[in-house]
Amino acid sequence: MNLQSKLAILADAAKYDASCASSGAAPRNSVGGRGMGSTEGMGICHSYAPDGRCISLLKILLTNFCQYDCLYCVNRVTSNVPRARFTVDEVVRLTLDFYRRNCIEGLFLSSGIIQSPDYTMEQVVEVARVLREEHDFRGYIHLKTIPDASPELMERAGRYADRLSINIELPTAEGLKALAPEKDSAAIDRSMARMAVHIGESRAARKEQAAQTIVSMPQSRTTRRASVPHFALGGQSTQMIVGADATSDRTILATSARLYGAHQLRRVYYSAFSPIPDAAHALPLAAPPTVREHRLYQADWLMRFYGFTHDEIVPPSQVGMLALDMDPKLAWALAHRERFPVNLNTAPRELLLRVPGFGVQTVDRLLAARRVRRLRHADLARLHVPLKKVLPFVEAADYRPGRALDAADLAAQLTPPPVQRSLF
Ligand code: SF4
Repeated sequence: MNLQSKLAILADAAKYDASCASSGAAPRNSVGGRGMGSTEGMGICHSYAPDGRCISLLKILLTNFCQYDCLYCVNRVTSNVPRARFTVDEVVRLTLDFYRRNCIEGLFLSSGIIQSPDYTMEQVVEVARVLREEHDFRGYIHLKTIPDASPELMERAGRYADRLSINIELPTAEGLKALAPEKDSAAIDRSMARMAVHIGESRAARKEQAAQTIVSMPQSRTTRRASVPHFALGGQSTQMIVGADATSDRTILATSARLYGAHQLRRVYYSAFSPIPDAAHALPLAAPPTVREHRLYQADWLMRFYGFTHDEIVPPSQVGMLALDMDPKLAWALAHRERFPVNLNTAPRELLLRVPGFGVQTVDRLLAARRVRRLRHADLARLHVPLKKVLPFVEAADYRPGRALDAADLAAQLTPPPVQRSLF
């Protein structure tokens, strides 16, 4: 099989993994020799680097052969898909070719499990090693690690990669056992814990060394920094499949909160289950609404940046699912009207962050502005916040919302009316 055909199979097989924040770039094509940068439309995804830049990655599997039988996965052993396998050299060559042509800024590499978790992980690590050590590759590398691989291999992976991830796959241990019987949620947890320790130690060492360098010898900063062991400076992430079993949003968010707290994960990615060819009977026939995935990301954002706990976002008294027709912050505010209106001139940051329509940046701007003057209604307009959504929940020097919060139809006023979908 030629390289082109392998790329077609192994880029397509990698597209189900959301843990590099893939947003599916539009295919670029310079067939016919006109212009640089042809990727033949294969395997390029967008991701965010640790410094916040949006970058393009070559997203592929080393192989889609796999000896495991995870029911939700198109590459499982019982699936009837065409198979292919890259050699280490082929992945290195492809990465360097695309990189030199300016099509990508890095590599996202995952793999099905062949022979054994250690053997597979060794191959994945070898790609990163050859790129870094033999070709001095300075681009971004995200490696998907295999939870059952040995700690030594994980440690080596962290040396070469900017980011590591292990997919937790299902939000509960029972769900994983039912749909991916060969996987072990305790082993996944242990691997995440080990990685968190390495990442923490590496960061602390770099911080300490940077501080010492600034105090003692600022001129030798670069040299001294290079001696600090590197370990996945972009941290670790994971992916959870949503809608492959009956797990509620509340449980999903509880699992995410635990992962953020216990293993300092950088990101949890939510991937709406999509029906695959030859799907097992245990799986639902249809994908969950994509808006569910969107609401989970919004809720996740509220936990990480807005001070909400998962219990507040979906309280135990509810059915355990996020509302699909409104964002979780608005849903919380409507359920807690007694906490509003929030005074723009006196409320603490934590409370301002709970106002629907206010982002972190808006709140910081309001706090900066109110240090020098009293905030008025016109200040909100200047900040370009969605006034209709914000005004019932705030008061300013010259503005009171009156009885807006008491309106029985406030939710209907603040959510867009349902729209009939177009035919195409
Ligand atoms: S281990 Fe499971 S999820 Fe990963 S490629 Fe194999 S079947 Fe798919």
